[in-house]
Amino acid sequence: MYKENGNISIHTENIFPIIKKWLYSDKDIFVRELISNASDAISKLKRLASIGEANINADTKFEVRVLYNKDNNTIKFIDNGIGMTADEVKKYINQVAFSGAEDFISRYKDKMDEANQIIGHFGLGFYSSFMVSEKVEIDTLSFKEGAEAVKWRCTGGTEYELEASERSERGTTVTLYLDEEGKEFLNEYKLREIIEKHCSFLPVEIYLENEKEERKEDRKPLNDTQPLWTKNPKDCTDEEYKEFYTKVFKDFKEPLFWIHLNVDYPFNLKGILYFPKLKHELDASEGQIKLYNNQVFVADNIKEIIPEFLLLLKGVIDCADLPLNVSRSFLQKDANVIKISKHITKKVSDKLTELFKKERDKYNSFWDDINVFIKYGCMRDESFYDKVKDILIFKTTNEEYITLQQYLERNKEKHEKKVFYVNDEVQQAQYVKLFKENNLEAIILNSAIDSHFINFLEMKESGVQFNRIDSDLSDVLKDNEAAVDESKAKELEDMFKANLGKDKLTIKVESLKATRIPAIMLLSEHSRRMQEMSAMFRGMDVKNMFPSEETLVINKNSELINALLDMSNNEDKKEDIKLICEHIYDLALIGNKQLGAEEMAKFIERSNKILEKLI
Ligand code: ADP
Repeated sequence: MYKENGNISIHTENIFPIIKKWLYSDKDIFVRELISNASDAISKLKRLASIGEANINADTKFEVRVLYNKDNNTIKFIDNGIGMTADEVKKYINQVAFSGAEDFISRYKDKMDEANQIIGHFGLGFYSSFMVSEKVEIDTLSFKEGAEAVKWRCTGGTEYELEASERSERGTTVTLYLDEEGKEFLNEYKLREIIEKHCSFLPVEIYLENEKEERKEDRKPLNDTQPLWTKNPKDCTDEEYKEFYTKVFKDFKEPLFWIHLNVDYPFNLKGILYFPKLKHELDASEGQIKLYNNQVFVADNIKEIIPEFLLLLKGVIDCADLPLNVSRSFLQKDANVIKISKHITKKVSDKLTELFKKERDKYNSFWDDINVFIKYGCMRDESFYDKVKDILIFKTTNEEYITLQQYLERNKEKHEKKVFYVNDEVQQAQYVKLFKENNLEAIILNSAIDSHFINFLEMKESGVQFNRIDSDLSDVLKDNEAAVDESKAKELEDMFKANLGKDKLTIKVESLKATRIPAIMLLSEHSRRMQEMSAMFRGMDVKNMFPSEETLVINKNSELINALLDMSNNEDKKEDIKLICEHIYDLALIGNKQLGAEEMAKFIERSNKILEKLI
């Protein structure tokens, strides 16, 4: 039996303290690293066997075992994979792995923050075990014929020991002798949680066991070795997609639909993207895209790889071609990353287009849940907008779902290039009623994102103008056949002006079609938008900078208004006229917005006065 003591070829003397310190916040990753090394060792052996380069027993059950032992303070990672010869241990563990760690440190020495963000700290691999251990031992036997088993030991300095081992089974056991702080990992629940987080979908079965207990007959692996995304979409059922969704995202609401990504060339990308059902709009922030690298979980929601708007969805993406050992800022410029993110965007727009064309009813029924996502996507990514612009739909006040083009086409005789919209169906009910009575239609835009989205569409669709349903309607509601006598109009205008005493209010008299309502309040779209926009900047005196431009439109077709005109010369009725003018104004105001406290008090007082007059 030979024994060798040596020095690990490394120049940075203090590599371990640095590793320990840097990765302190994310210690768990040693579990992932050691399990994925073990799983890789098995995959490598299987590959060699498949091309006739290795002999394996047909009934070999490949597995990775994680054994914890509270008496000895150890955790063992055992695999029956490829194993290592003494030379390989020297090369891969003493030199390669170390140089990987050294490389990592020299690269990020001055950029600690960035280093912490590096996805999963890949490449640090085996040496992450020293984050929790005072001593690490490798006991391994290579699959190669005639190979001798070896044991490697290192106590976290730059020296190692290598000696012959008595091991007789092919494979590797890595034993961690935990240090004081590392002992927290001797806890079944904790270990299970970490394994489930990172290794749930590794391709080799993983078992977590208490070394002091007998192996249980009915033990179950902690992972699913063939996650749904690795299968051919043709072989997956709806039930399987839904079950997978519930399991991975712990979301018990069924997803609306999904997209199975499956690309082999020019890059390797697999995954499933789900469109979740939203409970309310705020849920949109709860999207989650899990990124995997060859079935090893890397991280959630990496916006450098996944187009940002897709983060509103839920899904898994497995991509072996991502350079995960570089910093995130670098990732954004990586050609593969750009291609991948373009590909995903295209797949999403293709799926939406297919639904729109082939299953329009379904698409309509999904719209309330998916519109925020699509609108956000359009604003974040021009190329996405170009792909989906013709399948953007809008719900109308008649409960239909139509495209912008359809709306414009249908209404061009009545109001060319103008799109009327409702953003609060309750508050704007009076206007909606007016619209319906006049066979007009408006679209409903009641998401928080819509005010930005209409600005965006106005920029994109030349000449199209969005107007809230209470904006300048005179043109569309005016009854051209019943022209208003100018002198009468003037009389009414003066009457309201005098009785209301509101200098800033514009008063207009029109004959409104198909309604007997005495008056409506209109707000200029432009000044309202300016107000809304500047309201976002706190401390600004919005009201004075952009006073709202309100217009009270008096309806000459209203009986009440005509009666009012008849009363106008009657001196005895002066007080009543004032009461009616004020009340008509308040009613128009209530139809438009909530009254303020003072206005409300006055309104109630006046209403009572009017009732008294009926006695
Ligand atoms: P990486 O896995 O990123 O290459 P590591 O530091 O984790 O870096 O491992 C270095 C090398 O050591 C691996 O590439 C592999 O060749 C070898 N190795 C590590 N663990 C095992 C194992 N359980 N069985 C066989 N070889 C292993």
